[in-house]
Amino acid sequence: MSEPVAPDLGGRLPVAVVVPGGEKNAISTLGWQSVYRMLSEEPGLAVERVFPDKLGLTDGGAPKTRESNSPLSSFPVTAWSVTFEEDFLIIPRTLQAAGVPPLSAERSRLPLVMLGGPLAFLNPAPIAPFIDLFWVGEADDNFIPFFEKVKELVFEGADRDAILEAVKDLPGIYVPGRSKTPVKRLVTGGTGPLHDPAFSCFISGRATFRDTLLLEVNRGCPYGCRFCAAGFIYRPPRHAEIDELKRIVELTDPPKVGLVGTALTDWPDLLPFIKWLHEKKKKFSLSSMRADGITEDLLIYLRERGIRTITLALEGASERLRKMMSKKLDPNDFLNAVRLCARYGVNHLKLYLIIGWPGETDDDYEELAVFLEEIVRIRSEEPGGKKKQFMRITIGVSSLVPKPFTPFQWSPMMDEKSLAARMKMLTKMVKPFKGVTLHHDNPFQARLQGMLARGGEEMAEFIALAAEHGGWKKALKRWDGDMNAILDRERTEDEVFPWEVIDIGVKREYLWKEWSKAKAAQVSPGCPSIDCSKCTMCGMEEL
Ligand code: SF4
Repeated sequence: MSEPVAPDLGGRLPVAVVVPGGEKNAISTLGWQSVYRMLSEEPGLAVERVFPDKLGLTDGGAPKTRESNSPLSSFPVTAWSVTFEEDFLIIPRTLQAAGVPPLSAERSRLPLVMLGGPLAFLNPAPIAPFIDLFWVGEADDNFIPFFEKVKELVFEGADRDAILEAVKDLPGIYVPGRSKTPVKRLVTGGTGPLHDPAFSCFISGRATFRDTLLLEVNRGCPYGCRFCAAGFIYRPPRHAEIDELKRIVELTDPPKVGLVGTALTDWPDLLPFIKWLHEKKKKFSLSSMRADGITEDLLIYLRERGIRTITLALEGASERLRKMMSKKLDPNDFLNAVRLCARYGVNHLKLYLIIGWPGETDDDYEELAVFLEEIVRIRSEEPGGKKKQFMRITIGVSSLVPKPFTPFQWSPMMDEKSLAARMKMLTKMVKPFKGVTLHHDNPFQARLQGMLARGGEEMAEFIALAAEHGGWKKALKRWDGDMNAILDRERTEDEVFPWEVIDIGVKREYLWKEWSKAKAAQVSPGCPSIDCSKCTMCGMEEL
């Protein structure tokens, strides 16, 4: 087969940004859009987009770019962004459909297959055999110079092998099998204000959040909840500056702004900013909020602006479990937030709950039943706003997936049967409460996600089977690996994890101490959110 010819782009390096999962998925996710913007503003690069569907195809055929309808295989550089582990199988499918050998070891020529985003630094191992190089961390000051370097090499006629050798030890680059490990995660601008808040560049009626500019308010989270990967892999916690966010809104002029962040109510400028949005006649929405951040002023304002749904994360069924995860949530603050929501006429209250904690017992869920009764009682006592609405409550239940680089990385995951039994018990518990509904995830899917998130390079064989033979369930029947062996055992202190080819910045000893405290249900203080160089708590001062 002759080599596909790259489009003639007047001396610019053609780069295909690949976002698997189809167009709707792509325009609904934020991470890659900032990177796309940075690359397309660079005069030396010609950037196009490819949104392969679940089968790795676009418009039912070999993957092509949206802009010039050029085949993916004709691009010397392809930059991938994958958000969910369940989408891993689209990588080999897309490469195969493009006529590019899916395994990196089988490729002798370009395109270069590079991948960035959180999965590149949470655990690159399961997909490492498909990928030539990972971008580890945020797109900082090294990002554009890296592409300039690759452009120079491509235009000099360097082959794939020479390019990988030349870039393997650049900051933030992980070339499996070649780079010195661990590779340090890159952080933009260090501590201080969030240097480069992400915002969407495609505001579309077809996105999950319709006609909405998604805007990043904060990155990282100071609370250090032990189960939450975002609280560790995005350290240090940083807030955007209000003037910068105003500038972005003025520049993009969207009908609606969706504020995104791990700790929205911790942002001191939240209320002034949403007031400013209202003055500018922009609608807005907020992602989930901490119950202790819901003040009367904020809630009154949100209701006046027509916000009808509030989402609060309870996470643990009992006080003991919340201590285990170091949630730092006073149940009275939670009940107070419910009271305010009912009082000011919130139509729909969404609550998040996680099940499958190590050592959880029925007692933890009996405590939840009492707490739910209290929530329902408070709802019926409050007047329900001007229209005397009845506040619907939806409880969203998900299974604990012990993620890399969290204290729970040493934890076993609950087995599928026990997770299903717990879901069933919760469904029954909620049934007598009028206007309370419960949705839960699928325990098999959660276990699959756990295995894909925690596996090593041997997982690539399983991913290739799923890509070739019709999905994950069918692949499990053919694969000779053992899901239970990966998920069901508690790890020992010195066990080396596949993801430790990355240095996230948070020290292993800190995570181990946190795991020991989790087992003893002891709460730890949160991150003081000061300059990391003045704090020695988690190790970030050395990154
Ligand atoms: S070093 Fe201290 S301030 Fe910095 S992220 Fe860690 S705990 Fe937070």
